[in-house]
Amino acid sequence: MKHGITHLFVPGPTNVPEAVRQAMNVPMQDIRAPDFGDLTLGLFADLKRIFRTETGRVMMFPGSGTGAWEAAITNTLNPGDRVLMARHGHFSTLWAQMAERLGLVVELVDVAWGAGTPVREFARRLGADRHGAIKAVFVTHNETATGVTSDVAAVRRALDECLHDALLFVDGVSSVGSIDFRMDDWGVDLAVTGSQKGLMLPAGLGILAVSDKALQAARGATMRRAYFEFDDMLRMNATGYFPYTPPTQLFHGLRRSLDRLLAEGLDNVFARHHRLASGVRAAVAAWGMQTCAEHPSLASDTVTAIRVPQGVDARDVLRLGYDRYNISFGSGLGPLNGRVFRIGHLGDLNEGMCLTAVALAELSLAAAGARIDLGAGVAAAQGLYATPAISRPRLTIAAE
Ligand SMILES: *Cc1c(COP(=O)(O)O)cnc(C)c1O
Repeated sequence: MKHGITHLFVPGPTNVPEAVRQAMNVPMQDIRAPDFGDLTLGLFADLKRIFRTETGRVMMFPGSGTGAWEAAITNTLNPGDRVLMARHGHFSTLWAQMAERLGLVVELVDVAWGAGTPVREFARRLGADRHGAIKAVFVTHNETATGVTSDVAAVRRALDECLHDALLFVDGVSSVGSIDFRMDDWGVDLAVTGSQKGLMLPAGLGILAVSDKALQAARGATMRRAYFEFDDMLRMNATGYFPYTPPTQLFHGLRRSLDRLLAEGLDNVFARHHRLASGVRAAVAAWGMQTCAEHPSLASDTVTAIRVPQGVDARDVLRLGYDRYNISFGSGLGPLNGRVFRIGHLGDLNEGMCLTAVALAELSLAAAGARIDLGAGVAAAQGLYATPAISRPRLTIAAE
């Protein structure tokens, strides 16, 4: 029998704040009621602030991040279109597979799992593409499998420097709402996220922010789509309605999670994630272990992927952590299976929770046979957390 709580340190689904969970405990309601837009129109407006876009349109499809990927592709591209993508982790790999399945010609750049989006190689290919054959460039902003954050702004600069007008697609599933993301400043055309990561909700919404240019492309795009048709969604959304039944409970939760994020202030949210992540990284360094991210400048503030020492199977770390210590860590995905375990540190999190994750990671590593000084990582993280936070976010919402 297990006692106490099971600690959730997977990088999605993330912990749902109690206030958000309570906010979802409401009766079912009429999705065609005259005042339904009172709930939904505010969500669209505030999601735009989370994506940092003024000119883009936000859509919420019942589904998950993967559904939002599909919506982005099928609405704006044509079968046979050439697209430029990189493969440097499980999620970028799945995205490329989807693009192929949907009939795109994928120009794939393979880089190490642990590297970021290869901006210079992208720039070279875009520069060589004199006739504009490449219709879209895809960037996985935060590769959740490897704990690597890529430089989206640099990809935008590469496009601009080549005077290339391919659409810029960004997977922000594990970055939007927790790592600095700027749709308008970076000229992102299609940004994708889901409800169960930085937005601290259960899974169930695939969320997109779409630029004017992407909407224009959608008008002529011939790829087959039905459920994910932008046009149907936007037409109904204009007055706050949906073309089919949306998950209203999630909307109430989203209302509360947006209130929390905006009350804290997005920059404070990002600073908190950076601080918490820095503590986890200090622990990894104290263990003498390596992150999957090849360079500190690539290290993600929402998830750390840790390479286990030679002779240790990361699957044992996960299993022993779960069985003995009531904690879920993220597994090593694809070729990283057995070599890596991940600590997700995004969403509703504080120093004490991260110290728990670090302490239980030490016990799990030791149980799996790693030589580790118990407490070394905890002390390193504590050292980091002992310094005052850069800003002291204060929630001002009633009843928090
Ligand atoms: C979680 C995740 C996805 C997949 O999202 P689902 O909501 O599980 O469909 C895609 N991309 C990244 C970077 C992710 O972290």
